[in-house]
Amino acid sequence: MTAASSTIQHYINGRITPSESGRQQDVFNPATGEVSGKVVLASTAEVNAAVAAASAAAPAWAETAPLKRARVLFKFKELIEQHHDDLAAAITREHGKVFSDAKGEVTRGLEIVEFACGVPQLLKTQFTDNIGGGIDNWNLRQPLGVTAGITPFNFPVMVPLWMAPMAIATGNSFILKPSERDPSPSLMMADLFKRAGLPDGVFNVVQGDKVAVDALLQHPDVQAISFVGSTPIAEYIYSEATKRAGTYPLRAQALGGAKNHLVVMPDANLEQAVDALIGAAYGSAGERCMAISVAVAVGSVADKLVEALIPRVKALKIKNGMESDAEMGPLVTAAHKAKVEGYIDDGVKAGAKLLVDGRGISVPGHENGFFVGGTLFDNVTPDMKIYKEEIFGPVLCVVRVPDFAEAVRLINAHEYGNGVSLFTADGNTAHEFSRRIQVGMVGINVPIPVPMAWHSFGGWKRSLFGDTHAYGEEGIKFYTRYKSIMQRWSATIGKGAEFTMPVAK
Ligand code: NAD
Repeated sequence: MTAASSTIQHYINGRITPSESGRQQDVFNPATGEVSGKVVLASTAEVNAAVAAASAAAPAWAETAPLKRARVLFKFKELIEQHHDDLAAAITREHGKVFSDAKGEVTRGLEIVEFACGVPQLLKTQFTDNIGGGIDNWNLRQPLGVTAGITPFNFPVMVPLWMAPMAIATGNSFILKPSERDPSPSLMMADLFKRAGLPDGVFNVVQGDKVAVDALLQHPDVQAISFVGSTPIAEYIYSEATKRAGTYPLRAQALGGAKNHLVVMPDANLEQAVDALIGAAYGSAGERCMAISVAVAVGSVADKLVEALIPRVKALKIKNGMESDAEMGPLVTAAHKAKVEGYIDDGVKAGAKLLVDGRGISVPGHENGFFVGGTLFDNVTPDMKIYKEEIFGPVLCVVRVPDFAEAVRLINAHEYGNGVSLFTADGNTAHEFSRRIQVGMVGINVPIPVPMAWHSFGGWKRSLFGDTHAYGEEGIKFYTRYKSIMQRWSATIGKGAEFTMPVAK
């Protein structure tokens, strides 16, 4: 597999394509703070070249039988399995998350490829024999043409794999615009697609920033855009896409940020709830859209919960993610580290009780790494910025509420609605919670309820702009256009024009 080179380029029409834009930016190893390479930033002309390659490849790929498309994906799956560790190491090198977590990310992406391998079955549609007068009616799901995906830094393999296998399996070509903060895995995936036998131009990568994103949004040949990232950008993408003028409207789904709560009821198994909170709040240094960032302590459980959390947060093993016993790595960039520390400052000023302070930690041998230690706040209230905004770092806020009804009210009032979790021993509470909570993905005694590949992923409220969720059957719908066909053969056609509304006879 192509090793990451120090200048990370585009991949257009089956080959690495050097940029001539003259723009590039540093990529870091967050554990050491060193620059590990440079990523090029596309010009509009370079995006247009990728769209031209994808447009040229789309018709033949759309005509390729779904079973043959699936065979390419089967091969792609095998290659990902062979290079599982290489992909995970590339994630850790540029993102910082611990290697075992990066391997888990690759596995969750692989599951979407496995799902997409079933595309001949997934594209099967409905048929009605003889709706009347010898007419049959059925429907097709046809590919859209050129599709594009814009992805965030926090899952540089998994999130592109939420999109590309679904788009390609359904007969589209695809352009990936990965995060400029950890771009190398995108080229590794391009290489694996090529080796799997995917025709040139069906999968392309343009590296870049807002310039590349805007060029994709404005190009009339791009038919659909999937976005995953922060809410302000998700809202921008969705509103720009849906107001695009031109021959066809641009179909868009834009998944945004989150503030995920985990409710601990007084009857919950405390040990299990604490384990869940530690993993879900501090895993990947909190840089997950499904991270738990708020623990909602109901009634009498609060003091016990906080007492149990403090020593666990202090004991987190914070190291270079490649060290085998590391539990938490650094944040992605120095700027993000400063932003997270700024939120901690803000929480203190607002009067929240700082029980464990992760600011200013130093990891031996990695003094220039972008590390922030596990941080725990108690007595956080809904008016505080640390409660309202997504911090995207290893900061857990405990909010105390008197009862279950108040926990539900609190969560339903939040602007985000991505994921939520409840720990309880009571089936009725669990049932009520699942039905009443205004959140897209719900876990009962499960801290991070990321739906499997054959279900679909997506939040509610300001965590998702658009009507369809990612992957699963919703993904098949997003990347295809529905067509209804009615057919009759001449022996059954009556003579003469009919001027009444056609009805079943
Ligand atoms: P981001 O919004 O900064 O960037 C996402 C993508 O948008 C990147 O490819 C980036 O290059 C591009 N982008 C950035 N600024 C832009 C602009 N002004 N105009 C056009 N494009 C722009 O997000 P991030 O920091 O990379 O990722 C973290 C965020 O993603 C968090 O908010 C997290 O919750 C969210 N996220 C959401 C999900 C989900 O499924 N809902 C999954 C993963 C991450």
